[in-house]
Amino acid sequence: MQLIVDLHCHSTVSDGLLSPEALVRRAAGNGVSLLSLTDHDGVSGLARARQEAETVGMRFVNGVEISIEWGGAQVHLLGYRFDADDAALTGGLASIHSGRLVRARSMSESLEKIGIAGCFEGAMRFAENPKLISRAHFARHLAATGVCKDVRSVFDSYLVPGKPGYVEHRWPTVAEAVGWIVGAGGIAAVAHPARYAFSRGEMRKLLDEFKQCGGQAIEVVSGSHSVDDVGTYSRIAREYGFMATSGSDFHGPDESYADLGRVASLPEGLTPVWESF
Ligand code: AMP
Ligand code: MN
Ligand code: MN
Ligand code: MN
Repeated sequence: MQLIVDLHCHSTVSDGLLSPEALVRRAAGNGVSLLSLTDHDGVSGLARARQEAETVGMRFVNGVEISIEWGGAQVHLLGYRFDADDAALTGGLASIHSGRLVRARSMSESLEKIGIAGCFEGAMRFAENPKLISRAHFARHLAATGVCKDVRSVFDSYLVPGKPGYVEHRWPTVAEAVGWIVGAGGIAAVAHPARYAFSRGEMRKLLDEFKQCGGQAIEVVSGSHSVDDVGTYSRIAREYGFMATSGSDFHGPDESYADLGRVASLPEGLTPVWESF
């Protein structure tokens, strides 16, 4: 029987809709036997998730999804099996938290200029952890107040580059984020590579740089990848000698590409990252 693994999901510690405990219970209910919680830029849900995983008898591995900037765009790196108390890692994540707060205030000011007031306070009401204030919380606030019909259309009309609620932000570099993960004893992976609007040449440049910095894995199977994407990144994983990872990127029952554990199996011939956990 194939092991059901999910190494990418979000809780209320970042922009997910379920608590770490509820997420673990849902994963167990879906038959997941190895889970990683990968909240954006935060590790404060890991101890809670691990405790609940022990209670329900499921394997759990520390995870995080770090926002970085590369080639002028936001890119996400996953980190696994690191020491969540490592000072350089927690210090690096804290610097992202202060940046998120500054960005949220400036997003709110920018939206106020086009006549939509009170977005900072509104978004904060949706953020259980204010340190991880996210565009997703702005989107939920704007959808709930009827500015748009749903979260996806808020992103399309207000929160992506070129739209009034989008503000430029300086995230860490590839070298910084990989350094934090590897320095804390972890394994770094490029998250959902098919989601970036890079050319093939740019993608190769990113992957070369990531590998040079000590990156070892790539997310081949993702809730947001098509069958073709899985094929493309399986080939890339083999070519670069990367381990392969797999996850749903679940955020909540009505806001996700896939439910926990409900993604395709990794293709044959790849080295699953979990073999080294
Ligand atoms: P942030 O890290 O604050 O820039 O917010 C990015 C988060 O917003 C992502 O992790 C997704 O959960 C969500 N997101 C990004 N783009 C979209 C989109 N087009 N539609 C819905 N959610 C999105
Ligand atoms: Mn998210
Ligand atoms: Mn992501
Ligand atoms: Mn994610």
